[in-house]
Amino acid sequence: MTKSRWMILVWILVLVVGCAESDPSDSSGSPGGSSVGPGSTAINAARIVAADDEPESWLAHGRTYDEQRFSPLDQINDGNIGELTLAWTYDTGGDRGHEATPIVVDGKMFLTADWSIVHALDAATGELLWSYDPEVPGEVGRIACCDVVNRGVAVWEGRVFVGALDGRLIALNSDTGEVIWDVRTTDPEKPYTITGAPRVVKGKVVIGNGGAEYGVRGYVTAYDAETGDRVWRFYTVPGDPSLPFENPALEAAAETWTGEWWKIGGGGTAWDSMAFDPELDLLYIGVGNGSPWTRVHRSPGGGDNLYLSSIVALRPDTGELVWHYQTTPGDNWDYTATQHILLADIEIDGEERQVLMQAPKNGFFYVLDRGTGELLSAENYVDVTWATHVDMETGRPVETEEGIYDDQPRMILPSPSGGHNWHPMTFSPDTGLVYIPTIELALIYALDSGFEYNAKTWNLGIDLAAIPKLLGEMPAVPTFGSLKAWDPVTQTEVWSQQHPGAFNGGLLSTAGNLLFQGTADGRFIAYSADVGEVLWEEQVNIGIVAPPVSYAIDGEQYVAVLAGWGGNVIVGMDAGVSAASTFENPGRLLAYKLGGEADYPDVRQKRQAFLAAAPGSGYSDQEERGQDLYHQLCAVCHGLLAVSSGVTADLRLMSDRVHENFDVVVRDGSLVENGMSSFADVLEEADVEAIRAYLTRRGDEDRAAAAQ
Ligand code: CA
Repeated sequence: MTKSRWMILVWILVLVVGCAESDPSDSSGSPGGSSVGPGSTAINAARIVAADDEPESWLAHGRTYDEQRFSPLDQINDGNIGELTLAWTYDTGGDRGHEATPIVVDGKMFLTADWSIVHALDAATGELLWSYDPEVPGEVGRIACCDVVNRGVAVWEGRVFVGALDGRLIALNSDTGEVIWDVRTTDPEKPYTITGAPRVVKGKVVIGNGGAEYGVRGYVTAYDAETGDRVWRFYTVPGDPSLPFENPALEAAAETWTGEWWKIGGGGTAWDSMAFDPELDLLYIGVGNGSPWTRVHRSPGGGDNLYLSSIVALRPDTGELVWHYQTTPGDNWDYTATQHILLADIEIDGEERQVLMQAPKNGFFYVLDRGTGELLSAENYVDVTWATHVDMETGRPVETEEGIYDDQPRMILPSPSGGHNWHPMTFSPDTGLVYIPTIELALIYALDSGFEYNAKTWNLGIDLAAIPKLLGEMPAVPTFGSLKAWDPVTQTEVWSQQHPGAFNGGLLSTAGNLLFQGTADGRFIAYSADVGEVLWEEQVNIGIVAPPVSYAIDGEQYVAVLAGWGGNVIVGMDAGVSAASTFENPGRLLAYKLGGEADYPDVRQKRQAFLAAAPGSGYSDQEERGQDLYHQLCAVCHGLLAVSSGVTADLRLMSDRVHENFDVVVRDGSLVENGMSSFADVLEEADVEAIRAYLTRRGDEDRAAAAQ
């Protein structure tokens, strides 16, 4: 694998985060207020635990509670994969990131699109059974760090549970989509969001949240699946120490913090990963980064800042902490441990061990004893410059000088997108390998020495506006993505395949010796799981970040994946490489089987904008100030240097009409329904004009370059 594409890379923020909360607003919107009862979809604990007895279903987020994302089905296999063709498609109507894992049971498929909209389909034909739109206000898009995505529903005892972007947890009738109950899980006055899939464990729906880029306190909450009543809440970071601690675990954690971290919230949002071991009776939660990112601003006297960037093991009945392992003590880089948690039993040194595995953002692959949290091994799975290794005596990473940016900006690997982000891995018990969709990307970290908290913007503690000015001074670092087959016993790479884009799809492995992945550049690919040979490839012209699933109906095996690129790429990643750079980005479920007879609906090309657009006008002497403002407030969605990933609007291409009405869009919020909130709270009219001047210059620059 040669690193064929070198580009200056930088990236700015990405990542997800979790969020935090404050207790007062945990109100129950409607338990008891609805007469709607459950539907007929009878998923329960016994059925999920025995999921291997019905491989035709995909009953839970990771298929099984151990979240291996391995399908025992083998009708489609490495011998007949060439006969795999499209069976049906379903368009969600959305055009932002689609990250969901479909749940498939009793012939029905339940999935989410962008803006937390739920769709129930006939899994054999794609026919729509019902849909439900939680009607998330458009302005919530502004406090979603990484696109208006949702990673899927949970289904349990006739109910479909969805976490809505605006912080609600909603139970729907599985037959009709009618609301059974709807509870608010976050304080609406604080910048919390929900993008993760709920999990149902022992009759309780568990949901976290995001928001650490904006300033919140992270937690997960368990609700009674039947009634929506809150059962317990576990905060991931301590609150104001002058108030009583919620539990002894938080009192202990407070010893690892300094300063007044609770005023911003501390972070530690748990926005994605969970797994459950029914025998050990442990629920595992991945905890996110600090709020703000920089430890000098968050905890100025030092400290590990528990339980940031940690895996915590909780009792599912009470939320009590049993053990924790912190991957990045004193996180300084947005290195969350919210990435996929995967449980397996593997032989290490001749002994069968019950392990928990994770490839968090910080670049190291961890194997832990999942009963105790003991570190069994850790090795880097991508290039890492912030630490040399993990010390097996202390269990701590050994930081490097190159990773410290307090005194000077540094180009650091991995970036805040991580060596691996939320895109799920898979473990094949047949090969004994873990497959990782990696992100090879660096970021310039520059300390914002004048950092002050502003509830209306990102609060990182690093200076995003410095990045464009430093680009020419830093070494070029290659940007790409790869699919790595990783041996968790020897902690070595067995094979890998490189992709041109950094942000590719999650993974599915099957008993047919197959491994499926979609890519940023709009392909859907099947590899042999054992040696990584490309066996089958479809050009679908829609970028894919979601993980595929497999199921069977009437004796026919299907492989299905949700296309629709987005997520943390909205900061402008993979511009020019992604399918979204060339084509429109419709959310579309693609279902395949052997001998399927469906055709691909067209995906329209975008207009060839640079050469077609009129030259800009209206430069002003304010455009340099506009560049700073743009990178402080706009680049997180519209891209560094105003180069869009293709998921959000490319502001270099604004029409004359948009130029004329730019202030109406930016300050009056005329496009709020599309997720473009008003910024009148932080921008004056002259500021908006300065930003417009900067965008005009950037459009002209790139148009001139394209014309040569
Ligand atoms: Ca984050």
